[in-house]
Amino acid sequence: MINFNVPPYVGNELKYIEEAIQHQKICGDGIFTKKCSEWFEKHMNAKKVLLTTSCTHATEMAALLLDLKPGDEVIMPAYTFVSTADAFVMRGAVPVFVDIRPDTMNIDENLIEAAITERTKAIVPVHYAGVSCEMDKIMEIARKYNLAVVEDAAQGVMSSYKGKALGTIGDYGCFSFHETKNYSMGEGGALLINDEAHVEMAEIIREKGTNRAKFFRGQIDKYTWMEAGSSYLPSDMNAAYLWAQLEIADEINEKRLRIWNTYYEKLKELKEKKVIELPCVPEGCIHNGHMFYIKAKDLEERTRLISYLKEKEIMAVFHYIPLHTAPAGLKYGRFHGEDKYTTRESERLVRLPMYYALEVEQAEKIAETVKEFYAE
Ligand SMILES: *Cc1c(COP(=O)(O)O)cnc(C)c1O
Repeated sequence: MINFNVPPYVGNELKYIEEAIQHQKICGDGIFTKKCSEWFEKHMNAKKVLLTTSCTHATEMAALLLDLKPGDEVIMPAYTFVSTADAFVMRGAVPVFVDIRPDTMNIDENLIEAAITERTKAIVPVHYAGVSCEMDKIMEIARKYNLAVVEDAAQGVMSSYKGKALGTIGDYGCFSFHETKNYSMGEGGALLINDEAHVEMAEIIREKGTNRAKFFRGQIDKYTWMEAGSSYLPSDMNAAYLWAQLEIADEINEKRLRIWNTYYEKLKELKEKKVIELPCVPEGCIHNGHMFYIKAKDLEERTRLISYLKEKEIMAVFHYIPLHTAPAGLKYGRFHGEDKYTTRESERLVRLPMYYALEVEQAEKIAETVKEFYAE
């Protein structure tokens, strides 16, 4: 059977976890946490990167940093993971959903401006499948209306938009290192802070509201409770697991792209015959092979395709149920404008197996099986 996902494991993870244990520092901000944060700062050209316990928590930190008040509004797509909305709902803010573009499944940048009200505080673009949103346009709107931008770059680690790493374009960027993502530490994430002025507050929020980070740097001689905060630091053992993958980050990225390109090349014929649709990567976007999806004609065809693949021992899955149709989405948010593509496109989308351990030959076989389905 070919699994849908296998968590990344490259070989040195246990060795580094053991090193963390030998250092007798397994709590947060140990040597591996430091190595990982510095790696991201250097490779993504980010001002400051703080490892967190998840991408959800990184987004919660961003919501705290924005000092949102109940009733404030945050614009985002409804086609996303629950965390994108949850982090803001926890602060009493209202997610205002706008429609997506059918080509990238990302927020339609041309619909954002009309959704802005007096209460709008932020825009949260989600870089679906590691393919960037139209950030120039989004940043231009944000500047015009003085709104913050929090990039949900959970899937976008190592992707870029016009030469800039995803997560470093808005005010804040959020990464995920969940086991389903390109680089993993089991559960984990990172907050990218792109304005130096917000770094100190972010460190305080992450350390239970204390200025402990400053204390450890020797900048003050005792630490104390400064603000409302929480505990968003991951254990250094988890960071050690992640470090093994960052050491070979390019190799992981290249492997995923090889698989992605194999799928694309093999299935191009079906796309040209207009039988299925394939992902679109707009000009200026470099993606990271996070996901390979195809779009069937409709929900019924998708359901048949998924069970056909399952019979052939290939696990393919659909993705998000649009948030505005979920019980919590109805309770806490609202959809602005018409849902022209969000529901329709989400019902057609199927994700094919995609992970570091997947062999190119397996991807070829999967693509062949998809072709067999459509030949029948
Ligand atoms: C995975 C994911 C998240 C959540 O990440 P966690 O690290 O599990 O909290 C948020 N947003 C998107 C778009 C994701 O894909």
